[in-house]
Amino acid sequence: MTGWLAYGNQIDSTDGDMKLEADCARCAALCCVAPAFAKSSDFAIDKPAGKPCRNLRDDFRCGIHERLDQRGFHGCVVFDCFGAGQHVTQGTFGGRDWRSEPGIAGPMFAALDVMRALHELLWYLTEALELDAAVRVHQQLRALKEETERLSEGTPAEIQGIDLESHRRRVNRVLLRASELARAGIPNPPDHRGANLIGRRLRGRDLRGANLRGALLIGADLREADLRRADFTGADVRGADLRGADLRDALFLTPSQLRSARVSDNP
Ligand code: SF4
Repeated sequence: MTGWLAYGNQIDSTDGDMKLEADCARCAALCCVAPAFAKSSDFAIDKPAGKPCRNLRDDFRCGIHERLDQRGFHGCVVFDCFGAGQHVTQGTFGGRDWRSEPGIAGPMFAALDVMRALHELLWYLTEALELDAAVRVHQQLRALKEETERLSEGTPAEIQGIDLESHRRRVNRVLLRASELARAGIPNPPDHRGANLIGRRLRGRDLRGANLRGALLIGADLREADLRRADFTGADVRGADLRGADLRDALFLTPSQLRSARVSDNP
């Protein structure tokens, strides 16, 4: 195991050759070096961008992997690169690494940011293509997926030149439509898009088909809530209590969101 991505995903999101889950053994621990950390409940230390975390060993493995939570690095547990780390290391940079070649560190770390965003979009597009109710937009989803895959195969310079915001907007429009189609038929689904529901008591609520896109559900009590077909795109569920909640067919609920919430009695 290497860095925080070593936790891997609980949901298999592989699709063809494009791996959408972290494979830390094939990554040069980019996520343990590239981003800056601000000391907080998620990170025990401040760390500037581009500087290796003090817990990173010479072999690109995390020295406290088994004790991340206890040592105050919960952010490492829940982070997800969607497989971007190994793509940048093995694909874009052909197996080279920032430690043996410090000259490529900057471009490598910059590529990680863009690649993570592309892989995240690929994860959502793959999920949307699983939705039978969204068949009407499957062709658009497939075309956007192919386009996103092509973008991710570029050279470091090409990856840097991607207009990510514009691409993300186009993808999001179709994902939104897919979500609407998947949630159609549920009478009066609650609309909590972008809502501040921090710490809210929602135990046992009927939230079927709820729009929870971008909602702040930090520490919310969602025990035994009915969340079937609720759309979790970008929702912040850190510390939310989802024990006993019905998450069958929940939409766009990522493995890292699940890791950040409480889903079982086990700590
Ligand atoms: S504690 Fe440091 S080395 Fe370990 S996973 Fe987190 S960032 Fe990487």
